[in-house]
Amino acid sequence: MHRVYNFSAGPAVLPDAVLSEAQNEMMNYRGTGSSVLEMSHRSFDFNEIISEAEVDLRKLLAIPDNYRVLFLQGGASLQFAMVPMNLMKNRTADFIITGHWAKKAYQEAQTFGEVRIIASSEDQLFSYIPDCTDLEINPGADYLYICENNTIYGTKYQMLPNTKGKPLVADMSSCLLSEEIDVGQYGLIFAGAQKNIGPAGTVVVIIRKDLITDEVLPLTPTMLKYKTYSDSNSLYNTPPTYGIYICGKVFKWLLKEGGLKRRGEINRMKAKILYDYLDTSQLFKGTVCKANRSIMNITFVTGNKELDEKFVNEAKKYGLVNLKGHRSIGGMRASLYNAMPVAGVKRLVEFMREFERNYNV
Ligand SMILES: *Cc1c(COP(=O)(O)O)cnc(C)c1O
Repeated sequence: MHRVYNFSAGPAVLPDAVLSEAQNEMMNYRGTGSSVLEMSHRSFDFNEIISEAEVDLRKLLAIPDNYRVLFLQGGASLQFAMVPMNLMKNRTADFIITGHWAKKAYQEAQTFGEVRIIASSEDQLFSYIPDCTDLEINPGADYLYICENNTIYGTKYQMLPNTKGKPLVADMSSCLLSEEIDVGQYGLIFAGAQKNIGPAGTVVVIIRKDLITDEVLPLTPTMLKYKTYSDSNSLYNTPPTYGIYICGKVFKWLLKEGGLKRRGEINRMKAKILYDYLDTSQLFKGTVCKANRSIMNITFVTGNKELDEKFVNEAKKYGLVNLKGHRSIGGMRASLYNAMPVAGVKRLVEFMREFERNYNV
């Protein structure tokens, strides 16, 4: 079987072990005689799948008891609306803009109230994270919003902002489960699964219980209230069953491989292999401030558009695929999510060295 090294930013690489286990269970899930795809979401077997997924995720992230775990759908982008509809009691929130996704969330939130940008890195093409140690946070703000890892630009907060007591809402789509975190520092975390967790469409929400209330903005549909899902254990209607099943397998894989402390070490090691090379290369250059480098999405350029394109095309012939940068910024991007093996990163750097020898004239 031929598998490439897939550096896509999402939907992205999943562990081989997870995919083959799903393959083995495809026609007959554990003696039930049917596929998970064909199973009622109210069945005993599916109930076990979703409950175990939650237990395992709680174990991985050491989620405190005063938080709920919800499995939703609609992609990370639906959270851009769901967060304000549920949390914006005073109709005002503060945002830090560090890229495309934070901006989209900000624009969506404008529909619901008065939102303010209290820091931004747009002045330097989102190549850094602003200093967030002492921001002027609106005393009336319902929450402070960040995008913790900027998938497109390749930056990440090394330190969380000082929220001055306001709940922190974080889009962690491209970094959740990449390393240990302290969930207690957040009010709400959400992540679209297709980056580092599982299939597209499934969304993981981790929310502090006191933020789940009936007191939502007028006209909020039942399907967009956190309380609806909290009260029904994410089973108000038919959830993305197969997606949750695969997420559950990824959680088990992470636990078996040593949990998030170990995962963080491996991910930092993988990123270091590529960054160390970028820092010595005469041809390739990293595009972001060193102090704010992401270990999940690594962006780089040659400085020459045609050469960038040539690199992406030649890499593909080597089985190194999806290295093209996001359409909005160009260049290259290597996403090194959990399921990207160390060997894949080494192979990439090996290929980059060879490319540099051939084209650095
Ligand atoms: C990919 C991504 C999104 C959008 O996810 P969808 O599931 O397509 O809505 C939002 N935020 C971040 C940080 C992302 O990486």
